[in-house]
Amino acid sequence: MIVVMKQHCSDEAIEHVMTYLKDHGLSGHLSQGVERTIIGVLGAVGPSGTRTTAGGINPEINEALEGLPCVEQVLRVSKPYKLASREFHPTDTIVEVPVPCVSEGVVRIGDTAVVMMAGPCTVESEKQLMTTAEAVRKEGAVILRGGAFKPSTSPYGFRGLGEEGLKLLAKARDEFGLAIITEVMTPTDVEMVCDYTDILQIGTRSMQNYMLLDEVGRVEKPVVLKRGMSATIEEWLLAAEYILSQGNSNVILCERGIRTFEKMTRNTMDISAIPVIKQLSHLPIISDPSQGTGHRDLVTPMSLASVAAGTDGLLIEVHPNPDEALKDGAQSLTLQQFKSLMPRVESVAAAVGRRFVTG
Ligand code: PEP
Ligand code: MN
Repeated sequence: MIVVMKQHCSDEAIEHVMTYLKDHGLSGHLSQGVERTIIGVLGAVGPSGTRTTAGGINPEINEALEGLPCVEQVLRVSKPYKLASREFHPTDTIVEVPVPCVSEGVVRIGDTAVVMMAGPCTVESEKQLMTTAEAVRKEGAVILRGGAFKPSTSPYGFRGLGEEGLKLLAKARDEFGLAIITEVMTPTDVEMVCDYTDILQIGTRSMQNYMLLDEVGRVEKPVVLKRGMSATIEEWLLAAEYILSQGNSNVILCERGIRTFEKMTRNTMDISAIPVIKQLSHLPIISDPSQGTGHRDLVTPMSLASVAAGTDGLLIEVHPNPDEALKDGAQSLTLQQFKSLMPRVESVAAAVGRRFVTG
């Protein structure tokens, strides 16, 4: 449910609604836009620790809210994903990530500037990771990617270095001042992965691992939620809803390509998902053209297209020697290719009125 306040309502009127909600066991989520103030209302905490949304609120409360000063109307959120919807929260959500190498010490994902996250698909060795981290940092990336726990389609594929890989990522952060993003695959690993990383990544294969979504919803670390390879946008937003409904509001969506009949590319990069998400949701969205295309030649054009379409960030695979990579070499940029990508991405960002965060 949402409470729409009249234009130019006073702070006292807002406070009045918030207090009323609190006194009735409800919680109000304030969204102050330029034109309108909207208060999203969440219901009581249920047995699983999840808050109910509009459905559970009784008609008397609804009526009483409508009678409070400066309340224009009380509306139901029409979408099945409530907390993730723009109706519930009309202003953009900005997810803050601490990044030592930027002057402010923090990067805001979903704000006016586009953010570059880059690094190897998988952490393979100290040398491979440090060489890549140094190179991407030099070109302006502020977040280092690298998988330590790798979902592998084949059980014989490389599954990652595990905690050893996390330790190397933490070392790279200390050395280069980059923030870290890495995948977590099981609920029982969430606490341990949080000890090392700044952003948790939920992979495409885990988008429907609801126990994992619940678990990352109980921490405060930002979560990048990849789109399931066969997920509709609504299913993807409902997966985000799992995380939000447990209390973690730091969710970033990531378009990484979907399965279609096309075989020339590994996946079909759904660029239109970017503006669609912007319409339906207040959450930031980033793009992963590496998994999205599967071919390093296509990573630059799809990065540029994503920025033009309004993405808030890019997640790109880079390797010092892609031909020898243990995973995803064909879609990994060389250090030189990454270097040439950066200024091009910056020009497209400028063309659509956005800056680029650099360290
Ligand atoms: C990755 O980022 O390397 C990865 C495995 O991504 P996805 O889950 O999108 O396939
Ligand atoms: Mn990969």
